[in-house]
Amino acid sequence: MELNKLLRKNIQNLKPYSSARDEYTGDAMVFLDANENPFNEPYNRYPDPLQKMVKEKIAVLKKTDAQHIFLGNGSDEPIDLLIRAFCEPGTDNIVTIDPTYGMYQVAADISGVELRKVSLTDSFELNINDLLGACDKNTKLVFLCSPNNPTGNSLRKEAMLELANNFEGIVVVDEAYIDFAPGKTLLPELEHYPNLVILQTFSKAWGMAGIRLGMAFAGTAIIDVLNKIKYPYNLNILTQEKAMELLDKKVSVQKWVKLLIAEREKMEKLLVDFPFVVKVYPSDANFLLVKMHDAPGIYNYLVEEGIIVRNRSTVHLCANSLRITIGNSEENEALLGALKKLI
Ligand SMILES: *Cc1c(COP(=O)(O)O)cnc(C)c1O
Repeated sequence: MELNKLLRKNIQNLKPYSSARDEYTGDAMVFLDANENPFNEPYNRYPDPLQKMVKEKIAVLKKTDAQHIFLGNGSDEPIDLLIRAFCEPGTDNIVTIDPTYGMYQVAADISGVELRKVSLTDSFELNINDLLGACDKNTKLVFLCSPNNPTGNSLRKEAMLELANNFEGIVVVDEAYIDFAPGKTLLPELEHYPNLVILQTFSKAWGMAGIRLGMAFAGTAIIDVLNKIKYPYNLNILTQEKAMELLDKKVSVQKWVKLLIAEREKMEKLLVDFPFVVKVYPSDANFLLVKMHDAPGIYNYLVEEGIIVRNRSTVHLCANSLRITIGNSEENEALLGALKKLI
């Protein structure tokens, strides 16, 4: 893969902003280089633009190298940066599966980049021929999502890799829910696929949606591009500090994941027994997609009961379906209790 052929010309030629903290790295005593205020430590200082300490910890956890990690303000940041780096507005295009996470479309629309949707099969699997058929010489990125939102299933590894083998551009696999399906990550494949980007996040299994921390894993050439075009100080000090703290507590994260998977299995069994439930789709994530006889009606009823789920009824292949996040046992019981009142 020739990365420069895929990159937009303006990005190839871009001279990135050079911050004070980029130009000097070392252990000086007096910092008079960045027009910071000497008072109100430690928040008076600009954060590390490349978040080296956080990346070192993540590298150990993910068995990779810090050079293969980009950190962003949520996964939404690398999604947007990838589109801006590779897709010439009005000319280039992106291909995604349908249904999937809504942010790819929004980010493409904001950049004025065409997004082509390729339907999953009825059982929510990839259709490789259709995906490759939708690509042309201006297709720079294919976005996959596994486990997929809102369907909950993981895509087959072999199918995703077949796509990466046969597509000339970059394949982005969004693994936001991968901690609920640990054996299924494509991370070990990164070294064999220079055109692969894997997105993960602290927003789901790590319980840190509020600190806005997303990860992209890729070969150094792609990581360098993302670092070149990001806002210089894209992750603030509070986020970096909180992430360091959390990364030392990974045992509680494993405990949460175990509990949530057990709750999901319980909910799956109990939900299918309701007379108005048609189907509970298999899930590798922390939510269930549930097909019902009258999903909008049930959605509205639950809102009146003070319980909010996601109505996905207007989404392709998700007619009459609600996406239900797995909460703690009290929250899940509240949902079940409300549904019981309907029978
Ligand atoms: C929740 C979710 C994310 C997380 O986005 P952040 O910006 O990291 O909070 C990413 N991708 C998918 C598919 C999601 O469902």
